[in-house]
Amino acid sequence: ARYVAGRGWTEATLTGYAPLQLDPSTAALHYAQSIFEGLKAYAQPDGSVAVFRPEQNAARMARGAVRMAMPPVPAEGFLAAVDALVDADRDWVPTGPDQTLYLRPYQLAVEPFLGVRPASEYLFVVIASPAGAYFPRGVQPVSVYLSEDYIRAAPGGTGDVKCAGNYAASLLAQEQAIAAGCDQVVWLDATEKKYVEEMGGMNLFFVLGAGADAELVTPELTGTLLPGITRESLITVAQELGHRVTERRFSVEEWRAGVADGSITETFACGTAAVITPVGHVKARTGDFTVGDGTPGAVTMALRERLLDIQHGRVADEHGWQHTVTAA
Ligand code: PMP
Repeated sequence: ARYVAGRGWTEATLTGYAPLQLDPSTAALHYAQSIFEGLKAYAQPDGSVAVFRPEQNAARMARGAVRMAMPPVPAEGFLAAVDALVDADRDWVPTGPDQTLYLRPYQLAVEPFLGVRPASEYLFVVIASPAGAYFPRGVQPVSVYLSEDYIRAAPGGTGDVKCAGNYAASLLAQEQAIAAGCDQVVWLDATEKKYVEEMGGMNLFFVLGAGADAELVTPELTGTLLPGITRESLITVAQELGHRVTERRFSVEEWRAGVADGSITETFACGTAAVITPVGHVKARTGDFTVGDGTPGAVTMALRERLLDIQHGRVADEHGWQHTVTAA
């Protein structure tokens, strides 16, 4: 769909995958007025296809648009485009375990001009790609690197929206993490560099205690981390499984001390791509430490199974999270 100031959004149309033609002075290329989303369609046991909570992605993208001085795509337009694309790609939605169709909606400023001001023309696009199992050899804990040189998001910035610039600014720290032998970067707060915020593309949970009585802590949404849809869903699922869930600030020192005295038994990250991944080794200038024994924890795996069961339609959808795609 295309937006022109004064005329509003056109309806999205279905076209074959092809290059976009952009003017060399396209605003998004210079000033990064660019936001995106990530969501998945899952084949259901009855042969239908369901997208997981697309209304949440529509709402998050619309909030991001406001922050980036862009016109929001109306939720109906977002959902209609997702439906039409999934329906057209129905034969491509894989049916194996952990197989999905990944959807990537995005919105770009396409007005050609040089100068720093909000553009008056935008493009809204959704592309799709089959996504295989994130862990082809089974779920394994990832190692993480605490970023002490770089900051992802500062108060008043854009940390709570999915804008392209956040990811551009994170690449060097991710490279540092890889160079240090880790899989992922973990971001700290900008002000004190003391509190854990999130991973490169996932939110974090800490498991205090063990078994059914374990309590979960996840960093509160201070405005500098992304409000993940998986995070929000897992808070509900964990509470239903009997866990207390607290959203609050959580420091690296509390994490380290909890692991040392055995009160923190598991840590996991969550997001659309991997759903849930256990966190094992933590690399930090102030000293490394390792959560758990190198195998995924019981609470982590129970939550993972429960959420995947909902997404794949293996249990009843009690929350209305499944958006069944119907033919246009
Ligand atoms: N944090 C960041 C920075 C992300 O890019 C993502 C992926 N969208 C997440 C968290 C997890 O969000 P969600 O559960 O909505 O995929």
